[in-house]
Amino acid sequence: MSKNDLKKRFNLMSTKDEKKFDLILKGGIVVDPANNVHEMMDIAVSDQFIAKVEKKISSDKARRIIDVSGMIVTPGLIDLHAHFFGYFASIQPDPHCLPNGTTTVVDAGGSGHKTFDQFNEKIISKSKTRVLALLNIAGKGMVGEPEQDLDGMSSDDSINKIKQRPDLIIGIKVAHYMGPGWEPLDRGVKAAKETGTFLMVDQTPIASRPMDEMMLNHLNPGDIVTHCYAYSKPMTDKNDKVHSYFYKARERGILFDVGHGAGSFSFRIAKAAIKENFLPDTVSTDMHVSSILANQASMPEVMTKLLACGMNLDDIVKKSILDPALKIGHPELGTLSESAIADIAVLNIQEGNFGLNDNGSGIRRLNSKIRIICEMTIKDGEILWDLNGRSRDNWEATPVPYQLY
Ligand SMILES: [Zn+2]
Repeated sequence: MSKNDLKKRFNLMSTKDEKKFDLILKGGIVVDPANNVHEMMDIAVSDQFIAKVEKKISSDKARRIIDVSGMIVTPGLIDLHAHFFGYFASIQPDPHCLPNGTTTVVDAGGSGHKTFDQFNEKIISKSKTRVLALLNIAGKGMVGEPEQDLDGMSSDDSINKIKQRPDLIIGIKVAHYMGPGWEPLDRGVKAAKETGTFLMVDQTPIASRPMDEMMLNHLNPGDIVTHCYAYSKPMTDKNDKVHSYFYKARERGILFDVGHGAGSFSFRIAKAAIKENFLPDTVSTDMHVSSILANQASMPEVMTKLLACGMNLDDIVKKSILDPALKIGHPELGTLSESAIADIAVLNIQEGNFGLNDNGSGIRRLNSKIRIICEMTIKDGEILWDLNGRSRDNWEATPVPYQLY
């Protein structure tokens, strides 16, 4: 839906109702890179839309006031790489996304053209989190013995499936192929190009399929290399310098996604690359069972690690919200502009002594003085996560119980 359509819809709704907002988030520091905003602002929400963003909105104009002073208020986080279907270690979207401020999430290749409908019926349509999909070039996605069946990897069938559901399928995924050649990648690139979408790739380099050749000769501008700070496909050399072919790939429009996961985020690689200002284009988790346990890969945890590796908060927020919103073709989800969809994350930056974990060459710790946690998540104007009951009445307001006997 275009921004104008949203505005029209919002105007219709605001005239039918009495002149009160549903809620106001008061006193937070709004970080909204789409509008170059990083300052204390109040935000009013009506129905599923942002109704007003101003320095001060009078408290008597809302049915509910929520004090978020000292908190960072951003649009809902957009996680471009997670796993909810097909993979044996898949997780459920709602309990893992909503407590972490993530309102929109992309399943990265769990389903293929043969299994997408099942994924939609069982998971996407049942989730409150907005779930989109990268279609695996492998017809069955990650089901069974995943991603090795060349016969099932059809560009044409994938193109047809994307054309059937352009509202849910935003691109193609190619990953984990163990054979020597480029067939899965080239078929995926073709399907992405012909549908005007993009491809996300996760291929550990081998002698017959080197990283530089993949990025410089096989991918198209706009395609994404995920796991960019993985130890297994190192961006940096033995002197901790970023390989020149990564710069060349970036120059020709190849994008780099974090995809933290259970083995794809090394402090050694990330710190060195960030020191050179080779930042990721998008921040994502690669969430599945093992990445949310020892590896601490929720969005706030990955954002914390990037902060501890030297990125600044505004860059991290932009690459966790606005840039992925633009990439998935939903700019209206990446902003807190008035009349935008009311997807909001309230984040708390805690100070203390914390230890952060990485992976890929054993799990190691990086000490940090800060940690980002999610206090509240609002999606389509509805509060779906409220860590400290900020939106709730005190329990003492509980009425006397009704006596049945
Ligand atoms: Zn993954």
